[in-house]
Amino acid sequence: LLSPARAGTGLSWRIMEGASVLVVEDERAQRYVLGRYLVKEGFQVLEAEDGASALKIVREKPVDLAVVDIMLPGIDGIDLVRLLRSDFSAPVILLTARGEEAARVAGLDAGADDYVIKPFSMPELVARVRAHLRRAGGFGTASDDGSQLVAGEVEIDTDSRICTVAGSPVELSRREFDLLTVLLRRKGRALSREQLLHEAWGTTHVTEKTVDVHMARLRQKLGSRVHIRSLRGVGYRLED
Ligand code: CA
Repeated sequence: LLSPARAGTGLSWRIMEGASVLVVEDERAQRYVLGRYLVKEGFQVLEAEDGASALKIVREKPVDLAVVDIMLPGIDGIDLVRLLRSDFSAPVILLTARGEEAARVAGLDAGADDYVIKPFSMPELVARVRAHLRRAGGFGTASDDGSQLVAGEVEIDTDSRICTVAGSPVELSRREFDLLTVLLRRKGRALSREQLLHEAWGTTHVTEKTVDVHMARLRQKLGSRVHIRSLRGVGYRLED
């Protein structure tokens, strides 16, 4: 039973109680193993073997997060993410195979939040599921006014455009600041270079190498105070 104090916290309460995770995977054995593990970890699991059933489920039932295999018969995982995104705002994690960099990027650009590479360990997947549920539930994010963004000891104020690391101001160029803002707003999400260009530059008519150059300088200035992970062939993720 929900106590009155907790009833208003919505998703945060349901995470503890067992958030509902939709698993979209056509291979029955994999779907079963995944589902069983998530149930054991305290989640409520809904299963779909193809895109059409997945779309039906999200229309009819509350789903807090979806795990979507890229390789599906009929509507593939990337198209499914695109279709889901029209009225489904919960996090989506893609299951991808080794060497599917292009599909991974396409999936992120279609609106997926993250991906794991098969074969993955169950604890690895569950850790990503929890991280995205926390983020979606508003946990561990910056202050409510929206101008302060924080990760570890790195803090920015988007109004005054001041960046501090462990309390000391750090001089960032305009692009570096914009790039860091995007990373902090999307903390924990995998972002393709194209997404970063689109959001920090406002254009994709710049070579993707530009992102790497600015990212290298940003990392140099921030030092080890914040962990910006390179996602090979894909882009970057600012770790929680
Ligand atoms: Ca599959």
